[in-house]
Amino acid sequence: MSRVINFSSGPAALPESVLHQAAADMLNWRGSGMSVMEMSHRGPEFTDILAETQSLMRSLLGVPDHYTVLFLQGGAIAENAILPMNLIGRTGHADYVVSGVWSQKSMQEAAKYGQTHLAASSQDSGFLHMPTQDQWRLSPDASYVHFCSNETIGGVECHWTPDTGAVPLVADMSSNIMSAPLDVSRYGVIYAGAQKNMGPSGVTVVIVRNDLMGHALPITPSAFNYQTQAEQGSMYNTPPTYAIYIMGLVLQHIQLEGGLTAMQAHNQRKADLLYDFLDHSQFFSNRVARHDRSRMNVTFFLKNEDLNAAFLQGAQAQGMVQLRGHRSAGGMRASIYNAMSYASVQTLVNYMHQFEKTHA
Ligand SMILES: *Cc1c(COP(=O)(O)O)cnc(C)c1O
Repeated sequence: MSRVINFSSGPAALPESVLHQAAADMLNWRGSGMSVMEMSHRGPEFTDILAETQSLMRSLLGVPDHYTVLFLQGGAIAENAILPMNLIGRTGHADYVVSGVWSQKSMQEAAKYGQTHLAASSQDSGFLHMPTQDQWRLSPDASYVHFCSNETIGGVECHWTPDTGAVPLVADMSSNIMSAPLDVSRYGVIYAGAQKNMGPSGVTVVIVRNDLMGHALPITPSAFNYQTQAEQGSMYNTPPTYAIYIMGLVLQHIQLEGGLTAMQAHNQRKADLLYDFLDHSQFFSNRVARHDRSRMNVTFFLKNEDLNAAFLQGAQAQGMVQLRGHRSAGGMRASIYNAMSYASVQTLVNYMHQFEKTHA
């Protein structure tokens, strides 16, 4: 069977070369006589894999020396709790910007560990835009300000770096990390599950500015204490070894393709192709404010929603899967992360064009 064009929002499509490499390494990684899955996390082979992956991550993102990169477990949803456990104790309260389902969940979870303050929200507009900086009502002594840089469900992306002065900025970057160059020095903490843009599910990347560690609430589980994990090189508990290895292969692939500058151009071209089609269509539409449209998750609606099932079925027949929108948003969503090719987006646009001609 040939491979489908997979528009899944996550876990999402991986570069084919990565899957080939993983297949070739499956039984015997670099002559070790073992699969990566069978290696001791403290053995020399996995120690190399971890070090290579760490160093690639640091060089691709340009992570400054006074930041630590942790490879943890639990995904971004667990980070919604782990982050406040580690940070909110600094002053007891934190500011949250809510621009969609994910940042709303983050704020709700944090309330278990300290006081949360809603700094800005786009809920009134149905989460169709990013609140602008002048709308953010920040508390000068907050432990941190949290926002989501790309709302995967609504298809809303923050295309600018917020300025929170001396208060550390925290971002859930699960669905747009590695999609473009990033100035890590503007952030206190960045976290992201790997399964959207940089690997399989199972590993969560947390980038922490070193001075923000050491403030964990006493209830914080040791395995989720940033300082403990930093001191142990993400090895306080057994790390998700295989997921880290695959993520390493994805990072190698990104580097070979030209790094994050190349990813940015690649992603912009694909997004422009799809949004341009939507803007000229009488039949399909995107509802997100133009300046805040996500380059990663393109949400759209059919004018006649009775045709949704037919649209999905026709797409499936042409090998295109996972185009149904999230149940809370409705409509359609094409997730077009790094691993999605321009040609595949063109195939989708051609299909949509044809569908419109047939049904309009
Ligand atoms: C996918 C996603 C999550 C949830 O990730 P889990 O791995 O299920 O914890 C959280 N935030 C954003 C922005 C996401 O895209």
